[in-house]
Amino acid sequence: MNNIPSNLEQEILRLKKEQNAVILAHFYQDPEIQDIADFIGDSLDLSRKAEATDADTIIFCGVKFMAEVAKILSPKKRVLIPDSKAGCSLEDSCQPIPFAEFKKKHPGAIVVTYINCSAEIKALSDIIVTSSNAKKIIEQIPANQEIIFAPDQHLGRYLEKTTGRKMILWNGSCVVHEQFSEKELVKLIANHPQAKVIAHPECPESLLSHANHIGSTSSLLKFTQENQGGEFIVLTEPHIIHQMAKKNPSGKFYDCPFIDKAGCTTCNNCPYMQLNNLEKLYLVLRDGDKAKFGGELSMNEDLRIKSEKPLRKMLEMS
Ligand code: SF4
Repeated sequence: MNNIPSNLEQEILRLKKEQNAVILAHFYQDPEIQDIADFIGDSLDLSRKAEATDADTIIFCGVKFMAEVAKILSPKKRVLIPDSKAGCSLEDSCQPIPFAEFKKKHPGAIVVTYINCSAEIKALSDIIVTSSNAKKIIEQIPANQEIIFAPDQHLGRYLEKTTGRKMILWNGSCVVHEQFSEKELVKLIANHPQAKVIAHPECPESLLSHANHIGSTSSLLKFTQENQGGEFIVLTEPHIIHQMAKKNPSGKFYDCPFIDKAGCTTCNNCPYMQLNNLEKLYLVLRDGDKAKFGGELSMNEDLRIKSEKPLRKMLEMS
C-alpha cells in the first residue's frame, strides 16, 4: 500500500521527530497504535496534553470529533488524522439543523452537550461535558433551570438518575455501547461469577443494571488498576483491555460480544476507530494533506471560536 517501508514503526518515529509532532491514541485504537503513541487516553485528556506540548503537529488517532477538540484547543498546531472517514455514530445522530430546531422548542433551556459531537453542535451548546465531569457540572446548574442534554440518551438517563435532575434528552446513541447483548452478558456473569462488571454510561440502562462500576474510560481503567489480579467483564469498546492488561498483568478481562444481524456473536469493536492503522498513520505523517486516506483537519475560525466557548466553560466548572 503506497510504498510502506518494512521498518514502519522506526519510520513513523523518524518522521514524528523531523516534524516536531506528537501522536495521540484513544483507548479504543489498535494496540500497535497505542504502543507507538506519546499519549494514550480519552478525547479531552489527549487534547489537553497536546495543547500543553510545544509540538507543531498533532496526529490524532481516534475519530474526527476528537481531532476537532484538539484543533479547537490548539488552533496554531497542525492537526492530522490518519483516515478522514473515521466518524462516529453518536456524532452522526445529532445534526446541526434538527438540533437547532429542537433548541428553539425549549428557549429557556441551558444546553449541556457531551463532548462526543461535532464542532457545529458544540457551537450550539452552552457547556460541554465529558462522562467524567458531567455530574459535577450538572449539579452546579440552578435547580429551577431547564436543561437540554445531548446527544447520548443513555448517558443522559444515567445522569438524570445520579443527579436527580430531570433533563430534556436528545435521543442519540453510540452503536458500540448500545448493541452489547444482555443475553451474552448474563452468560458471562454466570461463567465468571467472581468477575466485576464494569460499564461505560453510554450503555443502555438494562446493561448498566448489571454493573458493579460505571464510569468513563479513564475511570474504568483506574478501577481495574486498583483491583490487581481481579476479573472483569468489560462493557465498553474492547481495545481498552490492552491498557487494562498492561496496568493489571495478573487480571482477567472478558469483553462482551453483540449479536449481529445474522445471529452470530461478534466482537463489539468501534467500526470508526478501526479505520485507523499504522500504515495510515505513517502515510499521513509522510504525505500530510496529500495522504491517500487522511489529511489535515481544517476548521473555520468563526466555528472554532464559537465551539471553544462551551469547552472552556466546562474547564472552568470541572
Ligand atoms: S465508540 Fe461510539 S461514541 Fe466512541 S467513536 Fe465509536 S461510535 Fe463514536
